[in-house]
Amino acid sequence: MRIAVVAVGQAGGKIADALLRYERDSEVDFVVDAVAVNTARADLLGLREVPPGNRVLIGGDRVKGHGAGADNELGAELARDDIGEVRDAVDAIPTSDVDAFLVVAGLGGGTGSGGAPVIASEIRRIYEEPVFALGVLPARDEGGIYTLNAARSLKTVVDHADATLLFDNGAHRETGESLAGGYSRVNETIARRIGVLCSAGEATDPTPEKVVDASEIINTLGRSGGVASIGYASTPLDRKRGLFGGFKPVSEDALESTTRVTATVRRAALGNLTLPCELRDVERALVVVSGPPETLSRKGVEDGRAWLEEATGTPEVRDGDYPLRDTDHLAALVLLGGVTEAPRLRELRAAAVEAQRNVAAIAERANLSAGVWDTEGLDPLF
Ligand code: GDP
Repeated sequence: MRIAVVAVGQAGGKIADALLRYERDSEVDFVVDAVAVNTARADLLGLREVPPGNRVLIGGDRVKGHGAGADNELGAELARDDIGEVRDAVDAIPTSDVDAFLVVAGLGGGTGSGGAPVIASEIRRIYEEPVFALGVLPARDEGGIYTLNAARSLKTVVDHADATLLFDNGAHRETGESLAGGYSRVNETIARRIGVLCSAGEATDPTPEKVVDASEIINTLGRSGGVASIGYASTPLDRKRGLFGGFKPVSEDALESTTRVTATVRRAALGNLTLPCELRDVERALVVVSGPPETLSRKGVEDGRAWLEEATGTPEVRDGDYPLRDTDHLAALVLLGGVTEAPRLRELRAAAVEAQRNVAAIAERANLSAGVWDTEGLDPLF
């Protein structure tokens, strides 16, 4: 699936950089172009991969390039005021090549949190291609204002994007790791997952037995404002290098390959989701298995899909493979679409409603958990 990336705010820009780096390293062309939008000049200047000509400073008249702080209402307002400039940058992307737009942002801050829903809504108004959002949720300890921002932004973005892929920063921080130190590793994780998903159907050599085409990804994400999560796991292979440095084929029996594939699919779906959720709370799924061609057991992929059908209770599970010659790992990616329930969403909403009720106590209220994720009691951004 070929995507046009529109990154908003600091986290958005850094994730766009990570995606472009992944694309270059994997040598598969799946990002048609990437645009970065920000109210902070320094953040735009700090980007490494997004071409300088594709960086759009908004709100310059009002905030003079100094950013929106953690004020997402201001972020939304600045995006609305300068939407013409964002539109011009997006219009310059050759969209005849684009299968979908991906609007990327951290939902807890100001510019991305407020700007992403405005920009997603505008792109959706103009283009026929689906507009998906990739939203980063703040970790629990980031504070009440981030929680409230993320909850309001999420409530707004799900209404304005075809589907929203979520990534919970809190679920991916390693023990003892600092927030800043963890970001580049976390961004690589996000880039690998989006990268494998999008490049699976674009690579042509070796040819997949069952291609994951763009429409299968789009149908799994859905176009009715749902939430999605991605799981990923890899298993090392015992591969030897040949005389000229390339890997020799893996020699093993069929049962070994089948078992490895199904075990990797289960690990991807059970323990390693961008937004942790129960499998029974999803409406659709897609599984992609990648690795050296001789290890991609078709029976293993089919067994993995059958297991996912049972675990999710839905027959709408798609599958495909992505053969790669030069790797010593077998990997499985599981895309879960139409997530109806997740502990982090419940927590976010409850904490944010509480914080909104008592703005003075915002900082202390970040860790409340209870209630159900619904649309009552929390104001959208617009
Ligand atoms: P903005 O520039 O005003 O949109 O604010 P940020 O993009 O910095 O958004 C703040 C939120 O994004 C917080 O929840 C941060 O933890 C998170 N964040 C900031 N930078 C990164 C990053 O590089 N990667 C990830 N995954 N999260 C980030």
